[in-house]
Formats: sequence, C-alpha cells, structure tokens
Amino acid sequence: MNILIMGPAGSGKGTMSEKILENYNIPHISTGDMLRNAIKEGSPLGLKAQTFMNEGKLVPDDLVISLIEERLQKDDCQKGYLIDGFPRSLPQAKALEEITNKINKPVQLVLNLTVDFDALAERVTGRRICKNCGAIFHIKSNPSKVDGICDVCGSPLTQRADDTVEQLKVRLDEHYKNTQPCLDYYREKGLVVDINASQEIEQVYADIKNALAK
Ligand code: AMP
Repeated sequence: MNILIMGPAGSGKGTMSEKILENYNIPHISTGDMLRNAIKEGSPLGLKAQTFMNEGKLVPDDLVISLIEERLQKDDCQKGYLIDGFPRSLPQAKALEEITNKINKPVQLVLNLTVDFDALAERVTGRRICKNCGAIFHIKSNPSKVDGICDVCGSPLTQRADDTVEQLKVRLDEHYKNTQPCLDYYREKGLVVDINASQEIEQVYADIKNALAK
C-alpha cells in the first residue's frame, strides 16, 4: 500500500502510524522525524531546518522535497510506504506526484485525521517522547509505567520543544493555510478518507483499518 497520513500536530499521526506498521510491512517515512534527526546530527539540513521548526513554521519546500525524494529512491519503498507529515503544501503534493510516478508507486490512499482544538491542546501538552527509541506516551491517556521513563527501553522521556499551546496555534495556522489546498488536491482525485481522530485510540484505529481494507 502507498499511504499518506495527514492531520494537524497532535492528531495522532505518529501513534496511528505505529499501529498501521504492526499490520503492514512498509517503511514509515516521517519528515518530522527525519528533520529532528538531522538537527540531532547537526547536519547542514538540520541547521537550516532548526529555526523554522522551533518557531512552529513549515520548513521550506525545497528542503523537504529533496529529503523525501532521496528516501523514496531506497529499495524498501518498492513494498509501498506510509508517509507521515508530507506533503504539507500544494507544491509538495505536486512534487510527490512526480516522484511517486517515477518510482511507479502512486499514492493510493490519504488518511486525513481530524481533531478539535481543545483535544489537540491537551494531547500536545501531555505528549512525552523517548529520545532514544522514539516511543510516544501521554501523561493522561497513555502514561508510561514509571513516570518520565520509557517502557520500551528505559531511557528518560522528554517533551518536544514545539509541544506548547503557543506553538500549537502557530502550527495549526500553518497547517490549515498550507495543507488545506493540498488536501483539496487529493480530494479531487478521490483519495481522501476523513478519520474522526477525537475518538479513543482503538476506535480511531478501527476506522483506519476499515479504510485500508477498502
Ligand atoms: P511533525 O513531527 O510532522 O509534527 O513535524 C514537526 C515540524 O517539522 C513541523 O512543524 C515543521 O516545522 C517540520 N516539517 C515536517 N514535515 C514538514 C513538511 N512536509 N513541510 C515543511 N515542514 C515540515
């Protein structure tokens, strides 16, 4: 399957991606994770992306497009892909169409996760992430067994620098301004399935499984 998962910050793209991957043997390609890794490594891309990301703004199209182009050339993408957080603008969507046509793996399904603002604010401010293995927790809805420690690898949990209500507002503005045209583009092609992501995790995933089965 060649799948995109889209939705604003805190809509559960990362959590749902983890669940999808339990059932589908395809690579998970998250531009947010790739950019955070680039920052951690201190690479030239990371240095360029850091200011935008810290302000909750979108990284320029050319940077993320070349990142995704390079990633999709890898052999594992011949099995398909689950792309998380890309495209986030119309130029990115058009570039993705060219790239996926070249590798003969056009997008088949766009999962659009929708959530209201208050639920997003609660999710984002309570989210905790393991710096070491990337596991995601939430202080209320999915707490780790030991406060502040990852259940999977025992490393300390951290909060993302942009997981604050202020940054959320900026990220949501950016999201709706830039991502809406891109969603419209896929809607016209009949590829979008809207998923009510305000529901409990298991129900959200049940709706996603239905969409995948079709
Ligand atoms: P995410 O982890 O998907 O919420 O992404 C975190 C941040 O990385 C975003 O707020 C942007 O600054 C940047 N980012 C991730 N994907 C993209 C993209 N496709 N286009 C532009 N910026 C991106």
